Amino acid sequence: MTEIIPTKYDRHYLTITYLLITFFTLGWVWQYIWNLDPRLIITYILAVLVGTLGTNVGYHRLFTHKAFRTSKFWYNFLAFFGVYGTVAGPVGWVATHLHHHRHLGTDMDPHTPWTEDSWFVGWLRTFLPYWMNIPQPDVKLLVGVRHLLTNKFIMFLHKWAPIQVYGTGIVIWLLFGFDWFLLAFCFPIGYSLISQFFVNWFHYDIDFVHKNRKWINIVIGGEGNHKEHHERPRDYSNDYPIKYFIDWIKT
Ligand SMILES: [Zn+2]
Ligand SMILES: [Zn+2]
Repeated sequence: MTEIIPTKYDRHYLTITYLLITFFTLGWVWQYIWNLDPRLIITYILAVLVGTLGTNVGYHRLFTHKAFRTSKFWYNFLAFFGVYGTVAGPVGWVATHLHHHRHLGTDMDPHTPWTEDSWFVGWLRTFLPYWMNIPQPDVKLLVGVRHLLTNKFIMFLHKWAPIQVYGTGIVIWLLFGFDWFLLAFCFPIGYSLISQFFVNWFHYDIDFVHKNRKWINIVIGGEGNHKEHHERPRDYSNDYPIKYFIDWIKT
């Protein structure tokens, strides 16, 4: 059986990579922002590509919730760029997110901050895979990811994602220098990872988020309707701005 749940090795890989990218992002991004560096426009476009499109539209709405159908081109496009936004192939991310929806707020929920262990472990669980509570796969979960396991391109990404991610980072650094390594690699991926941390933190006070979802939607690319999202996971009709993109690419 294909390994669908992050193994201990994968959890180490994911956790170390999350920490590295977040370190480079939060350590260096401010000086570019204070100086209004025009190259941040490229960072922003790439952040939308890997975070808002690859991760939110691809991994979350399409691969996990099957909220719409699209062409093979857009399917593969979203999968390819989603690898950067999550630093991994879709299978583990989708399985983890399905668990989150099924076990919301219980100790089985991979992202719940409400854990019996300690408030600190709960806080870590919202953003670092090492502490996410991911139970063994069962039949229901396998059914949920079956469409990915039978897709050759998805399984290719699943296998080679770490090479794709680190390879891209190293090539950009060697060819274009440290500035572009930050601007075109770390910051866009950092945006996507930090947006995902925020969505998980929402569970601390989901009502507050729901009341303020308009500006949150803008900041994190359309994932602000989290309360509605848990009530109707396939409905994206109020999720701006990704709704416009999904309506454009859906078939
Ligand atoms: Zn949630
Ligand atoms: Zn969801």
